[in-house]
Amino acid sequence: MPAVTLPPPDDELREALRLQLAVRLAAARSHGLSRWVRRRAAAPAEVAAAAAAPAANGAELLAAEAARVACCTRCPGLATTRTQTVYGVGDPRAPLMLVGEAPGADEDRLGEPFVGRAGQLLTKMLAGIGLPRERVYIANILKCRPPGNREPLPDEKASCTPYLHEQIRLIGPRLLVALGAHAARHLLATETSIGRLRGRFHDYRGVLLMPTYHPAYLLRNPGEKAASWEDLKLVRQKLRDLRVYADLPGYSQP
Ligand code: SF4
Repeated sequence: MPAVTLPPPDDELREALRLQLAVRLAAARSHGLSRWVRRRAAAPAEVAAAAAAPAANGAELLAAEAARVACCTRCPGLATTRTQTVYGVGDPRAPLMLVGEAPGADEDRLGEPFVGRAGQLLTKMLAGIGLPRERVYIANILKCRPPGNREPLPDEKASCTPYLHEQIRLIGPRLLVALGAHAARHLLATETSIGRLRGRFHDYRGVLLMPTYHPAYLLRNPGEKAASWEDLKLVRQKLRDLRVYADLPGYSQP
């Protein structure tokens, strides 16, 4: 008797359709589309043009991945308390990518990482080495806000890190900056203090990584800004050595 493949249960089917729709919506929004119009039959010339079109670009792939993450429920304690996931922001082909720990209240509300006072300082720090925020990519290890801004739990970081790995793979940065002790220690799998980790490059899955202080920490400890500035100057010099951002001007301390 021939084998019969049973259809998936209703819940699975609904989840698959929801995910597929979310990916399509994200791809449409990445193209600036906000309305759906019923498709007419394509002319033969359009079919031929579509067949010759290049595969999805980096921005589309990132948008699709962001849509996938938006449906994630791996950490029930975060998936049920978040307003939305905070995937990342910036140039999808950025040579420089900055990684923090987790979204805070402002980020959870607005869906963008580093948008509060700490985010404003980060934007200033980047401007100090001549980099507009739009020319880098900014993300966090966790894509959901821990309630009450508590520290992420180890299993939450472990569950979300594969999304960061995929993000790094799609963007392909030449250099990473880990913002803060928690991000640096998690990425480098060490308990060494940020004070001992910062100031030199490390290797993270084949990409150079500079740990430095988190902007929120710098707001509370302005005396450490000089050290962070030294880290950023090393980053700027390395970007110059790698011949990326060749058009950027010289240094000016923020
Ligand atoms: S933190 Fe990451 S793994 Fe956990 S629910 Fe959010 S997106 Fe999923």
